[in-house]
Amino acid sequence: MRIHAVPVLTDNYVWLIEGDQRQCAVVDLGATEPVLAKIAELGLIPQAILLTHHHADHTQGIAAFRAHYPVPVYGPSTEAQTWVTNPQVDGAVIDLPHMGSFEVWLTPGHTRGHITFITDGAAFTGDTLFTAGCGRLFEGTAAQMLASLDRIATLPDATYIYCGHEYTADNLRFAQFVEPDNQSIARRAAQMTPMRLRGEPSVPATLAEEKQTNPFLRIRTPLLRQAIEKFAHQYLSDAQAFGVLRRWKDEFDGLPPLSFK
Ligand SMILES: [Zn+2]
Repeated sequence: MRIHAVPVLTDNYVWLIEGDQRQCAVVDLGATEPVLAKIAELGLIPQAILLTHHHADHTQGIAAFRAHYPVPVYGPSTEAQTWVTNPQVDGAVIDLPHMGSFEVWLTPGHTRGHITFITDGAAFTGDTLFTAGCGRLFEGTAAQMLASLDRIATLPDATYIYCGHEYTADNLRFAQFVEPDNQSIARRAAQMTPMRLRGEPSVPATLAEEKQTNPFLRIRTPLLRQAIEKFAHQYLSDAQAFGVLRRWKDEFDGLPPLSFK
């Protein structure tokens, strides 16, 4: 299995999962043309679309793509009904010939029905777990997102995290701000500019690297927890601390507040 990145829109990634006989599955489809071009360049034969959630920057390329390749769309059972032909529930397993099997995990938080696709050595996390960050809480609660990330964190450390956006450098600026003494974050941040100047995606990263540098996987580490509680001026439960950290990141990014709990 080989995985190819197709950058689309401003900072989205479409992932092409190549099987051993040129079959491929497409993870999310925010645009059509660049994906068709990459498939033609590589000589791939699309077999399926794997859809993580309903947002337009992950779905708006599906209709035009399916006009060329009318393949099934495996996606959340509770959202994106317009696009999903094969609704998936938590724990379902999708067997794609020559590409392996993909387990479906319900990972709510960013949206209510967001799903993550788990295969051998890789997790396609959409807008749930980002490299060095996590998605905004548009529909779910902090407790839901924390539970989703905690579950993803149970995967083997060597698992590669393929997320939906190129946000690593931005996320690491916040990570450094909240954990200024974390040398792993500093080292990772220092790699970002040269990597991006070479035109390389910063995604995927291993779960091991995420556990060392992603503040949203680190809310139980004492120093970060102290920083979060200092920001909130009170002691916090895990879910509260997670919610405060997420709100802190939104403020840091100058984003309008979301009304989540
Ligand atoms: Zn999204």
